[in-house]
Amino acid sequence: MKLSQMPYEHVDIEEVKTFFDKLVEDSKNCKSGEEQFELHKKYYNYIGDVSTNLKLGRFRHDIDTSEEYYAKENDYIDEISPVLANCINKYNKVLFESPYRDYLEQQISKVAFKNIEIANKSIDEKILPLMQEENALISKYDSIIASAKIPFDGEEYNISLLRKCLTDKDRDVRKRAWKALSDYFMSVTDEIDDIYDKLVKNRTQQAKELGYDNYVELGYNRMTRNAYRRKEVENFRKQIKESFVPFVSKIQEERRKQIKVDELKYYDNDVFFTNGNPAPIGTPEEILKAGQEMYSELSPETKEFFDFMTENELFDVLGRKTKKAGGYMDFLPKYKSPYIFANFNGTSGDVDVITHECGHAFQGFVTRNDEVVEHNDITMETAEIHSMSMEYFTYGWMDKFFGDRKEDYLKMHLQDSITFIPYGCMVDEFQHIVYDKPEMTPAERKAVWKELEKTYRPWLDFDGDPFFDEGGFWQKQGHIFWQPFYYIDYVLASVVAMQFKVWMDKDFKEAWQHYLQLCELSAKDFYEPMLETAGLKSPFRDGTVKGLVEEMEKKL
Ligand SMILES: [Zn+2]
Repeated sequence: MKLSQMPYEHVDIEEVKTFFDKLVEDSKNCKSGEEQFELHKKYYNYIGDVSTNLKLGRFRHDIDTSEEYYAKENDYIDEISPVLANCINKYNKVLFESPYRDYLEQQISKVAFKNIEIANKSIDEKILPLMQEENALISKYDSIIASAKIPFDGEEYNISLLRKCLTDKDRDVRKRAWKALSDYFMSVTDEIDDIYDKLVKNRTQQAKELGYDNYVELGYNRMTRNAYRRKEVENFRKQIKESFVPFVSKIQEERRKQIKVDELKYYDNDVFFTNGNPAPIGTPEEILKAGQEMYSELSPETKEFFDFMTENELFDVLGRKTKKAGGYMDFLPKYKSPYIFANFNGTSGDVDVITHECGHAFQGFVTRNDEVVEHNDITMETAEIHSMSMEYFTYGWMDKFFGDRKEDYLKMHLQDSITFIPYGCMVDEFQHIVYDKPEMTPAERKAVWKELEKTYRPWLDFDGDPFFDEGGFWQKQGHIFWQPFYYIDYVLASVVAMQFKVWMDKDFKEAWQHYLQLCELSAKDFYEPMLETAGLKSPFRDGTVKGLVEEMEKKL
């Protein structure tokens, strides 16, 4: 069914509660595992319909925020979502305590039960007021970032529009743009420090009330870390420091020569060529058409996927005035349809939608007929492998998007992906230090960041800038505010996606078959055994990172 024709129905939360009350009772009264699993399938059906409606309501609001009916529905959905989450939690508890647990685990997976256990340790009604306050603080940070009005060259920019100037091919333009950005952050840095200080103290208090020593363990549980913990992550970061930091320093020296400057400064960040970074050619319609050709050539599975997306009009990617900013991919269980929301703006980000977001959507399409809903509760370090690997699998078709600058684009993509890895680890280590010592002052936190810069980005020269050189950079990294410890997921996924890159350069078909296998595995197994089944090495294992750097160095 076409996305625009899917009927939306308002979800009555009272009806939902009644359904769950009965479900909980019936589930407790089941006389066998088979009976309880049959009942659980009814839950799948019901929750599939409810979540389809909630997602449709949000989506219709996002594509036209001026539409009053969906604006109201969107507010209502915000309001009822925690109530629904609470209903699901309560029901999951019954499953968890079932006398037929072994049978249920066989049907649903051990992973799902581990996730329920973790979820139970992450939330309690007594900390709901703190969680609400936490959300309000995050919104306050978001609005400071979203409402920025930055004067530059006689015009006013918001942060996302200023981005183009920050990477301008004219060095003087980008230097002044970075100064404008720095001035803006200097004007709000005390306010952001205050918000973050409150967030750290709030989260620490949540942890204490739930019986934790500090927020780190709770944060891991909120991220559903069901297969690795702090010790493994620390060892991973250590390997990145040893192997990737020197590698990235070499890449930066390459980039310095590419852009023909004597010394790399922070305002040369993300600039790869003297004639500017490559941007896609053609209209949005042409980009989508190129995507269709690409996926029909890549494999039979991707052809089926992209044709399905096109026939059912599951893309909403054209920028419009009343459309919400940003982009995402989601899945409608009732129609077994992935869908993609984006705002094309003429930068290489448009192609990321066709590669990265389509990687997520493709995974959803591959497992769309799996009736066990929990199999698609994929944790982020795995979900990002699906998307980041697709960026590499589509390298061979980039001429369709970038014409004769294909090679430039590929070089930029590879240099950028590798450079990201130490940065991602720095964001992660910073947060561990912050939540280990919640009593630190804002000035002490900035000093911590400044120190980490020396370890993770020794090549970066902030040229005495009063904001960036004094350890302020993290204030523009939203994830630090939204979701602690999220960021390392991108780094872990990147290290696995690069293994696919190495593999496909040796044997494309074989690498693709294993990628497909990984997509099909979804969340049926735990992280490390799943990687092993798909022929990949765990990033946590000593030597994985070192071996990868050796392979990647050959490519540049
Ligand atoms: Zn992604």
